[in-house]
Amino acid sequence: MDKKLQGQIAIITGASSGIGAGVAKSLSAAGATVVINYPVAAAKDAAEAVLAEIKTAGGAGNTSMCDVSKEDQVQKMFADTVQQYGTVDILINNAGLQKDSPFESMSLEQWNFVLGVNLTGQFLCAREAIREFLRRGVDPKRSRAAGKIIHMSSVHEVIPWAGHANYAASKGGILMLMKTLAQEFAWKKIRINSICPGAIQTPINRSAWDTPEALKSLLTLIPYQRIGIPEDIGNAAVWLCSDDSDYVNGTSLFVDGGMTLYPGFTENG
Ligand code: NAD
Repeated sequence: MDKKLQGQIAIITGASSGIGAGVAKSLSAAGATVVINYPVAAAKDAAEAVLAEIKTAGGAGNTSMCDVSKEDQVQKMFADTVQQYGTVDILINNAGLQKDSPFESMSLEQWNFVLGVNLTGQFLCAREAIREFLRRGVDPKRSRAAGKIIHMSSVHEVIPWAGHANYAASKGGILMLMKTLAQEFAWKKIRINSICPGAIQTPINRSAWDTPEALKSLLTLIPYQRIGIPEDIGNAAVWLCSDDSDYVNGTSLFVDGGMTLYPGFTENG
């Protein structure tokens, strides 16, 4: 395999499971050294298992505990990474969660919790990454860009989602955070894009696929007629982090099997 990310250092937040773990494996296979972030001690074993799999496959990296919604912890994770590896080339801003509720009974705590991780967490990590990219600047031996950020957004940055106002608002916020940062730092050769997954088979949406009935109902929303897997996102992330996409900046890449194609209109509405 052509190692398009050889020698680059990537931090992947929320990488002890699901999409983050899948992206970490794909980036590693493409030659990147990966920092597997996880939020709490209870997730350490899962993070170490992801790292062990990566090492068995010939990759390199380490794990790093950090709650992305906490400024001091985020700053420490980046400082530790720079101390260990010299710099950071890639941030996959992936950590995210849901606390679903009918809107009229949604507590302020549920709102703040989701916004704190999904949006503020992406702000805090992007800011540290950009500070490091600005410090180092472009090194043509590493990449044509000074650094790359991928925000893990969702189809719900454009599809409203009843009963999930906090989650949808966080993903809508990521859309403008991503575009504004891309505009602000393009001239510094920092590329910033989003990946918007559709339905990917991970723990976050288990109830949507773990019975035949649930999966059948889910597939009515997916024209391509299969649920996605983390590798689908990993493949897109490798491309979006590599110089093959050097002219791509400020874009949302939908990896969704056509979920955003208004499938309800397939039979003419
Ligand atoms: P997941 O639950 O497997 O992964 C989320 C990860 O985030 C977990 O590893 C969790 O430990 C971590 N995390 C939670 N809070 C954190 C914090 N404060 N600090 C650091 N890490 C934290 O689910 P997933 O599907 O892999 O989700 C990954 C991302 O993809 C999320 O941002 C999610 O919104 C997005 N997404 C998922 C889907 C899907 O269908 N699975 C669709 C669209 C978007």
